[in-house]
Amino acid sequence: MAKYNVHGGHNPSGKVACGAKGFLDESKEDRAVAKAIIKYLKKGGATVYNCTVDNGTSKNDVLKKICAKCNAHNVTLDISIHLNSGRNDKKGDKKNGGFEVWACSWNDSKRAIVKRCGKAMEKLGFTNRGVKTSTSLYYLKRTKAPALLFEICFVDDKDDYLMYKAAGADKIGKVLAEAILNKSISTTKASKVVSKLKSGAKVKIKIGAKYGGAASGKTIPSAYTGKKYTVTKVQKNNNQQEALIKQLNSWVPTKYLAIV
Ligand SMILES: [Zn+2]
Repeated sequence: MAKYNVHGGHNPSGKVACGAKGFLDESKEDRAVAKAIIKYLKKGGATVYNCTVDNGTSKNDVLKKICAKCNAHNVTLDISIHLNSGRNDKKGDKKNGGFEVWACSWNDSKRAIVKRCGKAMEKLGFTNRGVKTSTSLYYLKRTKAPALLFEICFVDDKDDYLMYKAAGADKIGKVLAEAILNKSISTTKASKVVSKLKSGAKVKIKIGAKYGGAASGKTIPSAYTGKKYTVTKVQKNNNQQEALIKQLNSWVPTKYLAIV
């Protein structure tokens, strides 16, 4: 399985050599997006190293430390997350600045990944500014593995800001991770419940839940929903997974349970 280095660019917000600031704070958001990408790449089965640097003493020192972290692992791809600036659209002109990806050189594999990433961002509403080439960016030149630098959107464009807030860093991270891996990553509550529900699990019952096993289907009174219960057993019944709730001595389909 593929291995990746991912980092949020610059030093943390408020420190020397931190990122750009506008409606969005680059250092804060690049870390949030990087974190989400890492989370979803891992969910998708990849090995991922977080190469974000939080203790640089200068711009150059941050870059040096990022490359040192990246080059400590043998990976398929290095990914750097940034937010762009320079639109200076304070009022919102209904035009979205958008997403672009930088590399120092291009091959089919990088192009394919970036194409999918651009499409995924377009789906969220962002303009796809496509690929840019730079042979002078320190990070792109000095990583051992092929490297890509993502500019998610513009910090100083109100339209980008609103779109970013509507999508959220987690969702952006998810669609980018899926584009990188070229597969969808399941995050449904059902799969979470199935994998984590076992004897002793603490759960809440969702509103509108049915009980009494798969067949009976009586609605659980709302007085029981929202309280914390304990699972004592999990079984399959008529192709449906259900859990025995200790306090109610009743079987409840696991799709109606949320782990707390
Ligand atoms: Zn940046």
